Amino acid sequence: MARMPPASLKSARRTVDLQSPVQYLKGVGPRRSEELNEHGIRTVGDLLEYPPFRYEDRTQFRSLKSLTEDEWVLTKGVICSMSSFDAHRRRLSIVEMVIKDGTGSLLLKFFNQPYMRQAFDEGQELVVYGQVKRDSYAHGALSITNPECELLEKEVGPSVNSRRVVPIYRRIGGLTSRKLRQIIAEAVSSLDPNIEDPLPSYLRRKYRLLPRNEALGRIHFPELSAATGEARAVELQSLNEGTSRAHKRFIFQEFFELQVGLQMVRAARGGVTKKRNIRVDENARRAIKAILPFHPTSAQKRVLRQIVDDMRSPHPMSRLLQGDVGSGKTIVAAEAAIIAVESGYQAALMAPTEILAEQHYYSFRRLLAPLGYGVDIVKGSLTPQKKREVHDRIRGGETRIAIGTHALIQEGVEFQDLALAIVDEQHRFGVVQRSTLKGKGDQPDLLVMTATPIPRSLALTLYGDLEVSTIDEMPPGRKPIETRWHEERDRKKVYEEIRRVVAEGHQAYVVYPLVEESEKLDLLAATEMAEHLKTQVFPNLTVGLLHGRMKGAEKDEVMSAFAAGDIEVLVSTTVIEVGVDVANATLMVIEHAERFGLAQLHQLRGRVGRGEAQSLCILVGNVRNNPEAKRRLQIMCETNDGFRIAEVDLELRGPGELAGTRQSGIPAFKYGNLIRDRKALEVAREEADRFVELLRIRPDEECRRIAARIRSEWRGRYGVALVG
Ligand code: ADP
Ligand code: MG
Repeated sequence: MARMPPASLKSARRTVDLQSPVQYLKGVGPRRSEELNEHGIRTVGDLLEYPPFRYEDRTQFRSLKSLTEDEWVLTKGVICSMSSFDAHRRRLSIVEMVIKDGTGSLLLKFFNQPYMRQAFDEGQELVVYGQVKRDSYAHGALSITNPECELLEKEVGPSVNSRRVVPIYRRIGGLTSRKLRQIIAEAVSSLDPNIEDPLPSYLRRKYRLLPRNEALGRIHFPELSAATGEARAVELQSLNEGTSRAHKRFIFQEFFELQVGLQMVRAARGGVTKKRNIRVDENARRAIKAILPFHPTSAQKRVLRQIVDDMRSPHPMSRLLQGDVGSGKTIVAAEAAIIAVESGYQAALMAPTEILAEQHYYSFRRLLAPLGYGVDIVKGSLTPQKKREVHDRIRGGETRIAIGTHALIQEGVEFQDLALAIVDEQHRFGVVQRSTLKGKGDQPDLLVMTATPIPRSLALTLYGDLEVSTIDEMPPGRKPIETRWHEERDRKKVYEEIRRVVAEGHQAYVVYPLVEESEKLDLLAATEMAEHLKTQVFPNLTVGLLHGRMKGAEKDEVMSAFAAGDIEVLVSTTVIEVGVDVANATLMVIEHAERFGLAQLHQLRGRVGRGEAQSLCILVGNVRNNPEAKRRLQIMCETNDGFRIAEVDLELRGPGELAGTRQSGIPAFKYGNLIRDRKALEVAREEADRFVELLRIRPDEECRRIAARIRSEWRGRYGVALVG
C-alpha cells in the first residue's frame, strides 16, 4: 500500500510501490506529474508498465568509417561543425551538423527542428541513431536525416544513458525519451522489493517465468549476459522484438489475466438462472415460415438451432454469431426475435449507428409485416415528444421488438419483459454496453453479431465469455465479387464502369473515407465530388449524397430513394459501411482505398454482391511508399474470404499495434501479439481454466489475492463485476 514517508525522512530515498502517485518520484514535480497524468500515467505502476519500444546497445558503437548506405546504425562522434538556414519560401528550416570520430565523419540533417542548434555545441560528443543515406545535396556523402540524438555521458562507470543497453521510450508530451529514462530509473531503483506478484508462484515455477520485480527491472534496464558479439546481438534482438525472458513473463501475465477474467464471467453466468418459458411450437414455426422469402442455408439452420437451445436452457445465453458480410446473420437474428415474441416476450436489437439502426428497423418492419408485430425505433434524433411515446410503448409492451442505437440503453427505456437482446456489429460496442443492454431485462439472452470474423481459435480464446456460432456458408447463387485496383490515372475507366453498370439497370456506390481528424475536409471532398459527378461527369444519371452529418429525415429519404432505384449513383462517406442492403447495387467504388483498414474495406465491399448479378468492387488508391497499404489492396483483389482477410489483417498490424482494437473488439495488449504468441495464449487459457477451478475447490491465500486483483482490474477496465 502507498505509504507517505514521515516529513523528517523526506530527504532520504523513499521506497515506492506500484500504487504510489508518480509525483513521489524524485525528478517528478507537479508539472511533469500533470503531463504524465494527462496521458493516463498516474501511479508508479502505470509508469513501469510503459515499456521501451526499442533498446540500444550503447556499449557498442559503429565507427563512422564502417557505415554503409541504408542501414540503421548506432554511432557516435564529436560535433565539429554546425550551421543552420531557412528555406523561407518552403517554410523549411534546416540544421546541419558534422560529427567525427577519428575514423571518418558523418553529416546530420535536422528538418524543422531549429532548437537542435541551441541544444548542442561544437566539441560535444553525440550518440546518434538513424538510417544512413547518401545525400545528393552533399556530393553523395553519407548522412542521417532527423536522427535521434543525445549527449554521450562523460562519467566512466555505467549510467542510465550510456555504456549499457539503453531503453528508448516514445515521448510523452514534453517528456523526451531521456527524461522518461531518468524518471523510470528512479522508479525501478526505489521500488519496494517486496511488491506482490500477480502470477501464481506455481505457474512461475512451471514455466520458469521471472518474478515481477525482476522482470520490471529487466524490461527497462536489461543487461546482456552473453560474452561474444554475436550472442549479444541475438539477445539485443530478442529485446527489440519484445520476446526476451522479461517480455515473455508479461506476455503470459497479460493473457492469463484476460483468460481468468473471461472464465469468471462465464462461471458467473452458469450460476444464474432465468425464469422463462420459450416455446418453439407450431405458431412460432408458422410465423417464421411466413416471413422467410427463401430457404435458409444449412449453416443458418445450424446456428439457429444453437441459439434456440440456448434460449430454452435455464441459463442466460451469451452467444457470438459470426459470419462473413452477407452470409445472412440478420435473418437468423429475426428468427430468434420471432421465437421470443411468440413466447410472449420482447426483443431488442442495438446497432452502432443511426443509419444501421434505421436499416434494421426498415428491414425488420418489412420482414415482419405479415406478423403484425409492434416494431419501434429508439434513436437520439427523435423529438422529446416522440421519444416519450416510444418509451411508453416499450414499457407497456405494445412494442414487441425495439430497435435502436445507444439510445436504447439510456435511462428512461424500460421494457415490460425483455427476453432477447441482440447486439449488431459487436466490435463497435464494449463489454460495458453489452451488459447495460442486458440490464434492461431480467437475465435476457444475449446474441452478439459480428461481421468482422477472426480465426476460430482466436475467437474461442478472446471471446472466452461467449459461445461462438459461425455461419460459414453463403446463400446460394451468390457470385464472388470481382475486385480491381486502379490508380488515379485510370479514373476514366472507373467512370466508364459506373456508366456501364447503370446502363445495365443496376446501381453503384462511390465511397469516400472519413477520418475524425480531417472530418470537415473529408466531408467537403465527398460533397464536392458528388456535385462534380452530378454536374460534370454523369449529367444524365441521378446522383445522390449520403453522409453521417445529414439529418435523420434527409438520410431516410436518400436511403429509400436508393433502395427504390431512384438514385443510380450513391456518393457516400463510410456511413454505409455496415448493414446497408440493396441487392440491385452491383458496383462499389472505394476512393482513397489506401486510407482504409482491411476490415473496413471488406465491410464496404460486402455492400455489393447481394443479388444474383455479377458484382464488381473498384479500389482507387495510391500506395506509393506505403507497402502495407499495397498489401492490403492486393489481398482484397485476391480473396473474398473474410476469415483469410482477418488473418492478414492481424499479421499486418504487428505487435502491440493492434490499433484496430476498438474496431475489432479485441482487447489491447501491451506485450502480447496474438499471432506471434498464440502458443502462449493457448497455454494461458488452459492454465486460467485450471486456476478458476482451483479457486472454486481449494483456494489458498495467494490464489484468493490474485483473483481479487483480477476482479478489481476488470471492474476498473470494463465496468464488469466478476464473481467466481
Ligand atoms: P449479414 O447481416 O450477414 O451481412 P444479411 O442477413 O443482411 O447478411 O443477408 C444478406 C442478404 O442475403 C439479404 O439480402 C438477405 O435477404 C439475403 N439472404 C439471407 N439468407 C438467405 C438465404 N438463405 N437465401 C437467399 N438469400 C438470403
Ligand atoms: Mg448485417
